[in-house]
Amino acid sequence: MTGFPNSADTMITNARILTMDDAFTEIPTGAVAITAGRIAALGPQAAATGVTAATVVDARGGLVMPGLINTHCHAAMTLFRGLADDRPLDGFLKTVWAAEAAHVTPETVNAGAVLGFAEMALGGITHVVDMYFHPGATIAAAAKVGIGLTTGPVFIGFDGIDGLPWPERLAFAEDFVTRHRDTQGVGLMLMPHSAYTLDAAKLREVTEMAERLAIPVHIHAAEAPSEMRLVAEQHGTTPARILNQTGILAPGTLLAHAVHLDDEEIALLAECGVAVSHNPLSNAKLASGTARIKALRAAGVTLSLGTDGASSGNDLDLWKAMRQAAFLQILATGEPDVLPARDIVAMATRGGAAAIGQGGRKGILAPGADADVIVIDLSAPHLTPCYDPYSTLVYAAGREDVRHVFAGGRRIVADRELTAPIGEETARVQAVARALNAHESHDGI
Ligand SMILES: [Zn+2]
Repeated sequence: MTGFPNSADTMITNARILTMDDAFTEIPTGAVAITAGRIAALGPQAAATGVTAATVVDARGGLVMPGLINTHCHAAMTLFRGLADDRPLDGFLKTVWAAEAAHVTPETVNAGAVLGFAEMALGGITHVVDMYFHPGATIAAAAKVGIGLTTGPVFIGFDGIDGLPWPERLAFAEDFVTRHRDTQGVGLMLMPHSAYTLDAAKLREVTEMAERLAIPVHIHAAEAPSEMRLVAEQHGTTPARILNQTGILAPGTLLAHAVHLDDEEIALLAECGVAVSHNPLSNAKLASGTARIKALRAAGVTLSLGTDGASSGNDLDLWKAMRQAAFLQILATGEPDVLPARDIVAMATRGGAAAIGQGGRKGILAPGADADVIVIDLSAPHLTPCYDPYSTLVYAAGREDVRHVFAGGRRIVADRELTAPIGEETARVQAVARALNAHESHDGI
């Protein structure tokens, strides 16, 4: 804690504060000063007397904490939410890939991503890792809503719905990284889809590019039984092993799902310094399996939480993901204390930051950290009383309790309302849905 300045851009006052710092420091009644997108100071309310600010948010009766970090999403897939439910991953992909081929353009990606980011912002998510075609349209969508974004070029072994053959895909990726290295509020990762959509030579080419450009990699791995079969047929081994053999497993790499891992692979992930995005809602809905979070934790693997896309998730709600993470581990192990509530909140905040190489800068309330701050309203009947704030957040709170959201100091949700207008994008998504419905009734797909 440092002393408060005389003035700040924004002051959040009278709040119960969870800093999520190394010591999990709590301030019973405190204030946070935000200036130029960063946290200028925080501390007891008494120390903040007399600070002037252009915006003052009185958070009396509320809880202030770092914004949630969603480490695996395909935001534009709100376009296909609910289109292919009640089936496993392979059947799901077949339907969704056909819809994508017909309807995905930079314009529809932008509209779908705006809706996805709006949903996430309203639910207290201030930063998201997003993998999808036309990432430039996704960057524009994030800028509109004001949410922080980590994204990058997608690599897939066939031409893909963006119509890029492999050599052009490599050129696009390199150019994209060059263009967006300094884009405000945007982090970059290379995003090869998976070991079942890329052969070993192509995975090696991605590794080479990641090393050359010094950009980390985000990839799906060991998600579902169908993937394990496909990878065994194509590579003669498991996803984790082929990713290791091709150099993808390296410090900074973020694996989405990592459900089907044996003990040796878990040790390998820890040794390689790889982080995992756990997506318990998507994993349950698609019958993908239950990730071995207890063993991953014991091995020291960096853990974070993701929602996955809206057509597999189906909502983009990290509060539900937190609760589901607890429930799945408790059921899988028979141990109610296997994943304590405080550690789950840590996965959704500081764990997410560590998973994207932003530990100490995001996912934490501290002087100098990015001003990614949310205010939770604790006054609702379902949150009263609050003995242990972490337990309340994981087992009783929901995204409807998020009242104010700041991302990089910008107020993106005020009193449960988005500050950006999204009417145009909503209409565009509805138009895609109408076209898909018409297609379905005529062609029976
Ligand atoms: Zn995914």
